[in-house]
Amino acid sequence: MTLNTTLQAARDMGVPERYAVMRRLAFLQPQIKHLEREIWGARRRTDRSRDLLIKALSESLIRDQEKELRPMKREATALLNHVNGKETVQAPGGITQEMIDQARQYPITSIIEFSKGRYRCCPFHEDRNPSMALYENHVHCFVCNRTWDSISATMALDGVTFREAVLALQS
Ligand SMILES: [Zn+2]
Repeated sequence: MTLNTTLQAARDMGVPERYAVMRRLAFLQPQIKHLEREIWGARRRTDRSRDLLIKALSESLIRDQEKELRPMKREATALLNHVNGKETVQAPGGITQEMIDQARQYPITSIIEFSKGRYRCCPFHEDRNPSMALYENHVHCFVCNRTWDSISATMALDGVTFREAVLALQS
């Protein structure tokens, strides 16, 4: 995983970038701490031991753990720099975070019509009793067990990419 994998997943899933980055960090940081402690302990054992076999085994263990640790630290640093950096990021394909936010604010009822209150039949499955509910600017289907925002609803209904949906919802 890299920073970009996390950012892309956040965009695809329609969750705030900062949320995705913080969750990923919450997953990585305890693992990094754990590995660093293990390496520190193994080093101490190696330094104290006079047994050559134990020394060799510990050193090989340390090398393996350092190999595992390095990409995690690299990713955590990139994630931290990203959240501490400027808020506006240039997304691939020339769409900005502002454009994504604006697309997300596009009234979902202009995409999926709700003529009789907050409930309607779900357009994403064969639905005879209204299973889809509207709340704020999201819809949720209790049969599909999925939530859509304006971007993901446009992607699903029009069969377009994330970028195309964002561009289509700039108004
Ligand atoms: Zn459904």
